[in-house]
Amino acid sequence: MKERYFSFNIYLRKIFKEHIHRISLNAGFSCPNLDDKIDTKGCIFCNNAAFVQEDSLKNLQQQIIDAINFFTNSRRFKNVKKFIAYFQAYTNTYSDLAKLKQTYDVIKKFPQIVGLSISTRPDCIDEEILKLINSYTDDYLVWIEFGMQTSDDKILDWLNRGHTYKDFLKSVELTKKFPRINIAAHIILGLPGQDIIKDAKEINNLYLNGVKLHNLHVLRNTVLETLYNENKIEILEVDEYVKIVCDFLENLRKDVVILRLVSSAKDEYLVAPLWMKNKFDVISKIKKELEIRNSYQGKNFLE
Ligand code: SF4
Repeated sequence: MKERYFSFNIYLRKIFKEHIHRISLNAGFSCPNLDDKIDTKGCIFCNNAAFVQEDSLKNLQQQIIDAINFFTNSRRFKNVKKFIAYFQAYTNTYSDLAKLKQTYDVIKKFPQIVGLSISTRPDCIDEEILKLINSYTDDYLVWIEFGMQTSDDKILDWLNRGHTYKDFLKSVELTKKFPRINIAAHIILGLPGQDIIKDAKEINNLYLNGVKLHNLHVLRNTVLETLYNENKIEILEVDEYVKIVCDFLENLRKDVVILRLVSSAKDEYLVAPLWMKNKFDVISKIKKELEIRNSYQGKNFLE
């Protein structure tokens, strides 16, 4: 068997017949869980500085120019000619319509950009914003990524997400009115008390297009760091994480695109686990484990 899970790369190659890279952008939005609309403390794991580029306060257009130049000048990525603009930092639908349109429209200046991907909270979406996002589907591959994290409200509360699983369900239902927008769930694996099989089943039942995995990890200057230092939470060892990812994949529909298997964080912000610094090693362990099990995504999925 060639591929044991449906990676984002495979999916993109099927559509574009060439390698496509995501450009991660910081459009300068805020988040209602940080600016006091809901709370000021944010989610217990959140420190956006740990993954956004230091220079990402420069204007969006310059961020895109610099990223394209970086790929073009790199030996490894020199064959990548097309890109997806990925609005990743904070909550990328948290503004008025005019500002959102002005922000997303930056992609029109770059013929190399073929896709638009927007990451947001499930409680920061409405029909007007979705109409705007849908307007890009004529010319671009469009994804929206909602922070689901888990389907367990008690854990969502512990994470201080400031929304419930029902909010996530509502955001999916609303977005399904626009079938050309692909929907992904951002989900954390390794949460205390989490039933990952139930979470996989919820994603199956919703017929989502994709899922992005986040291994629970501790970043500096977060509530999670305090809990970790007080020995109040456990972070999975790499072999434990590999096992639960494989269990999760086995229970997921075959056609759900896996946007990511392991999180990334800048070294200076990462407290634990240190094994995620070697992302490629973790990915190869996951592939190896599926091979040993003679297994694949969807193996245990029953219609
Ligand atoms: S919703 Fe996102 S940006 Fe806001 S606090 Fe949580 S993780 Fe951070």
